[in-house]
Amino acid sequence: MGKTLVIGAGGVSHAAVHKMAMNPEIFTEITLASRTKSKCDDIAKSVKERVGVTIRTEALDAMDVAATVALIRDTGADILVNLALPYQDLKLMDACLEAGCHYLDTANYEPEDEAKFEYHWQWAYREKFEKAGLTAILGSGFDPGVTSVFATWLKKHKLGSIRQIDVLDANGGDNGQAFATNFNPEINLREVLADAKHWEGGEWKVTPAMTHKVEFDFPGVGPKNMYLMYHEELESLSTHFPEIERARFWMTFGDEYIKHAKVLENVGMTRIDPVMHNGVEIIPIQFLKTLLPDPGGLAALTKGKACIGDIATGEAKDGTGEQTWYIYNICDHEECYREVGSQAVSYTTGVPAMIGAAQVLKGNWARPGVWNMEQLDPDDFMDMLNTQGLPWHVRELDGPVEF
Ligand code: NDP
Repeated sequence: MGKTLVIGAGGVSHAAVHKMAMNPEIFTEITLASRTKSKCDDIAKSVKERVGVTIRTEALDAMDVAATVALIRDTGADILVNLALPYQDLKLMDACLEAGCHYLDTANYEPEDEAKFEYHWQWAYREKFEKAGLTAILGSGFDPGVTSVFATWLKKHKLGSIRQIDVLDANGGDNGQAFATNFNPEINLREVLADAKHWEGGEWKVTPAMTHKVEFDFPGVGPKNMYLMYHEELESLSTHFPEIERARFWMTFGDEYIKHAKVLENVGMTRIDPVMHNGVEIIPIQFLKTLLPDPGGLAALTKGKACIGDIATGEAKDGTGEQTWYIYNICDHEECYREVGSQAVSYTTGVPAMIGAAQVLKGNWARPGVWNMEQLDPDDFMDMLNTQGLPWHVRELDGPVEF
């Protein structure tokens, strides 16, 4: 068991496929398929040059379930790793069920015509995967992904229960562009411009996007303004750890990024509904994506570090009362580029996708059903983070966060 079919050939896929090729004892055969085959060929060429491993490449429209089923059967894939876009999640889950293949992704399903980040569409597949004896792992990137594994590790080793958790995501990278996103611009802007929602006292509290700002001194990155926003792990963490009283997500943005995002929103360039332009129907945010730099293509220019982690407070396992722990990774853009030719955001997403797939292939997470990351044993995943390029640090803080 080790045959892997990766779908999508963007920035995240570039990093994940290189790291898979570096672990040939786990990933015995790799096929990379995407809408534009030349992008798969570029990744395969880089893998061959850097790692010496040969990757099979194919053209595939992931919305075509029959074509995906045929490719899974032809490759004999044990696991399909979905690194395309969230719009393809359900079609790829359908294909896995039909062909008898495990599934993993890094972002929850979103309908293309509605920016709605909810797990219910994918959780509805739980029984089908159980009956088929197949495993589906949802959200195996960094956030969501590692941030949930961090929470589970704290719950297993430090805290008997988690009363409150803050996920803190800082990108201190600079790529010299006036405005660019860290990953797929369309998905990124839909996420950033959505209402900020956090879990508190058993309900969702909603505030307008980008209105709640706090300065935080990030290890390795330094002081940065971070903004309260909604992120999908808040839903799964508050569901699977029902004792959580408050769960929030924060991400750093520079003033220039916010200014551009707001102007683009105000002039209608981030609209996701079709509009007529010179007799042709266009979706403004898709047109904007065409104009903006490809985040994967900025890797060579990006300098600085990213730091992502959790601060969690709860009852200590050792019975000494309440404790607060900060657990995080610091990732250097230039080191990622040297190793695999990616920037840190692609790397911090692609490496956990590889590690999550490895957990299924090794049998650690091969449990039938549909799982979020915090539901699975964290220990081997955490060990692999340390050995596969994303070492983590954990330290006790004096008390709960004061922001
Ligand atoms: P990119 O836009 O760089 O890559 C997406 C790839 O998917 C492209 O190669 C694209 O093809 C391909 N694709 C799109 N539609 C189809 C289709 N119908 N059939 C086949 N292939 C298709 O995105 P990123 O690499 O930046 O992001 C990939 C995923 O990772 C996204 O879902 C994103 O939300 C997620 N992500 C998760 C993070 C986390 O920490 N959990 C963080 C960052 C990203 P083409 O080249 O032809 O356009």
